[in-house]
Amino acid sequence: MRLRNITGARDIIAESEYVVQEPTEYKGRWKELFENNGELHIEVGMGKGKFLNEMARRNPHINYIGIEMYSSVLLRALQKMELDPLPNLRFLCIDARILPDVFEKGEVDHIYLNFSDPWPKDRHAKRRLPSRQFLERFDQILKADGRISFKTDNRDLFDFAVEELEPAGWKAEVITYDLHADEVLCEGNVMTEYEEKFSSKGNPICKYVIYR
Ligand code: SAM
Repeated sequence: MRLRNITGARDIIAESEYVVQEPTEYKGRWKELFENNGELHIEVGMGKGKFLNEMARRNPHINYIGIEMYSSVLLRALQKMELDPLPNLRFLCIDARILPDVFEKGEVDHIYLNFSDPWPKDRHAKRRLPSRQFLERFDQILKADGRISFKTDNRDLFDFAVEELEPAGWKAEVITYDLHADEVLCEGNVMTEYEEKFSSKGNPICKYVIYR
């Protein structure tokens, strides 16, 4: 997702009460930020935040953190929060490569990857969020029985993601190549911005849920 640089986006983000400015300071004590013992779920590569906004609304007992590296994109999520603030949703403007500096071992209960950038060139494979390099980072922060959910309409990226599981030491609990056609798996599904866009064009949506 590339938006034009929006003038002042960085300043707005630096001053926003909804963005945690020094996330490494919360390592091991994210529950203090939310002032409760609820589970912590994160979306990596959140985009404009439509999915997490709806998830946080539906599940007030779960704390959510959206991670997005581009300030111009994150700005859109902030605009929604300002209109209708949610106490259980906060944002980080960081590159997900630093996640192990931000969360303690086992501190995160669930990781969502939605419509991650495909990085189609082989030499960029390690930038793909479902790559073994990122799974290694996620392994460091996810609790022992935690799960990662990944959705995409990009079949090449999904096939790559499934092939990465065994060498990275993960197992699939759920795999579907057409989420919206599966009544059981689709129950309670919250559509992301990209999911709405691509499913409305007729693209089937692939999804896995994995554990180790
Ligand atoms: N998840 C949203 C959805 O499904 O509508 C947005 C999908 S968009 C294609 C992918 C987003 O991931 C982009 O906004 C991009 O900036 C972000 N992203 C990609 N790699 C990232 C990384 N290493 N750290 C943080 N954000 C990342």
